[in-house]
Amino acid sequence: MLTPRDLEYVTMRMFVAGLGTETNTFAPFPTSERGFRETEYFPAGTHPDTPTFAGAPLIAARRLAASGNHELIEGLCTFAEPAGVTTRQTYESLRDEILDQLRAAMPVDVVAFSMHGAMIADGYDDCEGDLLARARDIVGPGVALGAELDLHCHFTTTMLEAADVLVAYKEYPHTDIMERAEELMALLTATARGDIKPVMALADTGILDLIHTTQEPARSLVDRLSAMEGKDGVLSVSLGHGFPWGDVADLGTRVLVVTDDRAEQGKKLALSIASEVTAMRGTMDAGYMTIDEAYDHALKARAGPIVMADKSDNAGGGAPGDSTWMLRRALEREITSVAIGPLWDPIAVATCLDAGLGATLPLRIGGKMCPLSGEPVDMTVTVTGVAHDAHQPFGPANSPLGDCVAVSGSGIDIVLNTLRTQAFAPELFTNVGIDPTERHMVIVKSTQHFHAGFASIATEILHVGAPGVVAPDYKNVTFKKADRPKWPFDDGEPTIRLIA
Ligand SMILES: [Zn+2]
Repeated sequence: MLTPRDLEYVTMRMFVAGLGTETNTFAPFPTSERGFRETEYFPAGTHPDTPTFAGAPLIAARRLAASGNHELIEGLCTFAEPAGVTTRQTYESLRDEILDQLRAAMPVDVVAFSMHGAMIADGYDDCEGDLLARARDIVGPGVALGAELDLHCHFTTTMLEAADVLVAYKEYPHTDIMERAEELMALLTATARGDIKPVMALADTGILDLIHTTQEPARSLVDRLSAMEGKDGVLSVSLGHGFPWGDVADLGTRVLVVTDDRAEQGKKLALSIASEVTAMRGTMDAGYMTIDEAYDHALKARAGPIVMADKSDNAGGGAPGDSTWMLRRALEREITSVAIGPLWDPIAVATCLDAGLGATLPLRIGGKMCPLSGEPVDMTVTVTGVAHDAHQPFGPANSPLGDCVAVSGSGIDIVLNTLRTQAFAPELFTNVGIDPTERHMVIVKSTQHFHAGFASIATEILHVGAPGVVAPDYKNVTFKKADRPKWPFDDGEPTIRLIA
């Protein structure tokens, strides 16, 4: 008879695919098939060897397959830059393409997906639960099925019922995408071998908080959660922060504990971590200044660059990325030595490319997508840099910016780009000849991911709460579906409860 150890050398068939986006139900434009094709779109077998949001589990599975013990069948891997609700046709066609690939790959021992956890499509408030449940219907109960999720996810009972293992990122910025993917694949293959019997417990904290893991007290919390894993039957612990701009019933900060067949212990641990997180509410966010407070502060600082995060216009949270509030105020106050980027304006980029490098022209910049983007800014600029099909690194990934131009006017340098995305790294400026270390203020459109690339060059980091689609005062968001009461929207002590 074969023991579990012997089975390690039995070839396993794995199917891995990816489908995700973070849906902002308040964003003024939909997520379409174009959004997926422009951001990360890799038909089966075409994913590069560098990690992406769509394909980290695929890379991990390739490494396992390369060891010679397993066979990998690759499916479609695609992620869209966050925006509004995904159109029904887009979601259903991408989902069905992946499910058809899974059917064709049968029989399999392991199925793994890269998903976000906060994807909403027209008619589907829980796309991940829908995809996992349909995959389970295809493979049946004996196959190890799981997913890697973004920590800004809404954990649901539908996901838990369908999957054996769910693993969310722990770090914000999400610098641990590959580590979590490796963990997911290790847990799923161990499940398929019969070495472990994963059981998931889910607790709701009664709160919805913004949590920055680069600073205390969240830094230590994440380290404590990591230290619990691999001991006393605890396989994995995930903190789902939730995403405040996705209006669904399951919105909230939730704790997922995966144990090796220790259901009661898992539930107790999930509840105790939830209590700890709830007690820390209101202390885990980076806070923010108004635009003028941030400029006043930066002007007093001796040395730059002061990196200022325009959190409210973060394309990574579904904002347009074309808001002009900070640019306009800098012009009004005649503040110079400022670099801003990336400001999404394909029309302005096309105009600058037509005019050519070195041209000076009147340009209408930004403010096109919605009232929260502010009014367009008209200024005379010189085109000082051009980069076609530019990229910026984010951890091990190389994230596309589209075509970029640098324009300069009134002492302000602006990077305009064609592919809606947030600021990850100084390369977004250096690609087009702007050295951010030589500017006193560097304004980046990002909530927190910029931290990975900019912290090392910043003399100081300021978080700014301008108007915008993902303005940090999310308490003012008007929900229709979210489960209430919930801190910080409602008074009273938050209710911590076990969901599964
Ligand atoms: Zn996220």
